[in-house]
Amino acid sequence: MTHDISKVIPQFQPYLDHLELQAVKECFDANWITEGPKSKEFVTKLSSVLNFKYGVLASNGTVALYMGLIAMGIKPGDEVIVPDFTFIASANAITMCGAKPIFCDIDETLHIDLKKAKKLITRKTRAIMPVHIYGMACDMESVMQFAESNGLKVIEDAAQAVGVNWNGKQAGTFGDIGTFSFFADKTITTGEGGLVVTNNAETYEKLQYLRNQGRINRGSFVHPEIGYNFRMTDLQSAIGLAQLEKLAEIIEKKKNILNHYAKSLSSEINLIKPDENSKSGHIPFRVCFRVKGGSQPLLKFLAESNIETRTFFYPLHSQPSYIKKYNRITSRVPKTKFSVSDKMFDEGVCLPSWVGISEEEIEYICEKINEFLLR
Ligand SMILES: *Cc1c(COP(=O)(O)O)cnc(C)c1O
Repeated sequence: MTHDISKVIPQFQPYLDHLELQAVKECFDANWITEGPKSKEFVTKLSSVLNFKYGVLASNGTVALYMGLIAMGIKPGDEVIVPDFTFIASANAITMCGAKPIFCDIDETLHIDLKKAKKLITRKTRAIMPVHIYGMACDMESVMQFAESNGLKVIEDAAQAVGVNWNGKQAGTFGDIGTFSFFADKTITTGEGGLVVTNNAETYEKLQYLRNQGRINRGSFVHPEIGYNFRMTDLQSAIGLAQLEKLAEIIEKKKNILNHYAKSLSSEINLIKPDENSKSGHIPFRVCFRVKGGSQPLLKFLAESNIETRTFFYPLHSQPSYIKKYNRITSRVPKTKFSVSDKMFDEGVCLPSWVGISEEEIEYICEKINEFLLR
């Protein structure tokens, strides 16, 4: 069988089947759709898979970050260092607290460059938010050391890193706070959903108040703290439970997809993965690579071939939203300040790499890329 070239190959699709549907039906049968038994079970199972001590669900990954920052006492006037190369939600969660995201360039591993971060510390710096990117882990031993020597809290954005280890330990479980997202394109999905984890009992208590109107138990109208509604629903948790059952399969398939691409693409292409002697694990969030001289012509060619792709993340320091908010004059930013993040955006390509993609589709994509490179 060959791939029907008139059909667009989507950049991403969730991996759902009758198991998720059955799980949702159980909520209907029990007539319980808001947060309840399924959510409780979901957190318990997540804790044994991801090895964290305390965890609370959140409405999504952005809110999970916000909750983590608030629990760490981040407030207006504070500064939080965040990589320039990440999905914008990392920075927006800091803005949501009224604090200021301070963008830091990345290194060639695509993770925050701590040497550059050192220069960004001011009297207002309260925290650092390492982001585990594209299914690889940030060097958390170095981040923790950096945070300790500068008196900073650590909020790990592990939205793209379910199952990804650093030195054998799950990303997101090193810092004061770790957060995950269950959006449709993450390793496991609940549609929308998130998780905040911590190993500290006091932080856990704060998170519980924060997510549920300032009370720990439902059914009471006495609220010891100010809190909000950042809960999930049992419908979502049911889907999450079914996804967790498939996690091993999802991980294996993602690795197979990467290997298939590696085998079929021209040897000139180096797919992004951790360095051989890195302590980072790898569960390819996306299959990606860089095109020297810029990815735009290839991306255009692939779009014309009915293949959906994505660029790498647009550097946060160049985001119109943040330029406007801080009245930044971009021409005054030294070219070297974000040189790696700028280069990655120019050169990066993310290929279709969802779990259900067929071998024929991968073959067709590789054929097209090889064809373009040979022109
Ligand atoms: C997806 C993502 C988020 C936000 O998660 P949502 O569930 O979409 O709110 C935050 N950070 C990173 C790095 C992400 O990839």
